[in-house]
Amino acid sequence: MADLLRLVYASKANFDSSGASGDQGEVLSEILTQCRRNNEPKNICGVLCYGDGSFFQCLEGERSAVEALYDRLLNDPRHRGITLLSKRVVPQRMFRQWSMKFMNVDAKIRRMLQIENLESFKPHSFSDLMVERLLVELRDASEKRRPAPIGTQGRGASARQAGAARELMPGLVFATAAGVLAIAFGLMLAGLI
Ligand code: FAD
Repeated sequence: MADLLRLVYASKANFDSSGASGDQGEVLSEILTQCRRNNEPKNICGVLCYGDGSFFQCLEGERSAVEALYDRLLNDPRHRGITLLSKRVVPQRMFRQWSMKFMNVDAKIRRMLQIENLESFKPHSFSDLMVERLLVELRDASEKRRPAPIGTQGRGASARQAGAARELMPGLVFATAAGVLAIAFGLMLAGLI
């Protein structure tokens, strides 16, 4: 059986990361479209985390597919300073549900950084332990919004829309429940129930 490889690297974005120009959103969405189009047919999965102008990406899949993708990534002009943080054969995937889960550096990750005395997201300086801790944090966060496992996901635009709808579902359920409670409360106040 072919080796299952997990490769993790850090890089610096080559676009204006201040958010002022709008470049950031446009480039990130272009990259994610490529990830989702290319990774699933190659059975590659993983997570892409972005913050403070830096990327942290984990790629999982068959050795030849992951190595070929990493070679392409090394020549992508949208980022620079690509630094390999970890590359090893693993018994199983951490992100098998995601052709590429995208996460911004959030409050929880910022707390992890503070504990390590890091003021901003600088994955180039992460220790091996910090790499592993962040992977676990990203996996746990991604499992809270779990799509169908890779390979069982549909392909094409309708599948991507279904994925987006799944991500929006918890918000919709909450909004509906809040609406029902508000109506019931209103009826109680009016003495109707
Ligand atoms: P493209 O230039 O995207 O397209 C090549 C071919 O596909 C062309 O023939 C084109 O006509 C055709 N095509 C274009 N759009 C469509 C469409 N909508 N439907 C059908 N065909 C189309 N790339 C990944 O694949 N996976 C990753 O996980 C990944 N992660 C990245 C992370 C970072 C931080 C960065 C900066 C880049 C990442 N990339 C990733 C991009 C990667 O570096 C290459 O740019 C990308 O893999 C090239 O894809 P492509 O060969 O499909 O080229």
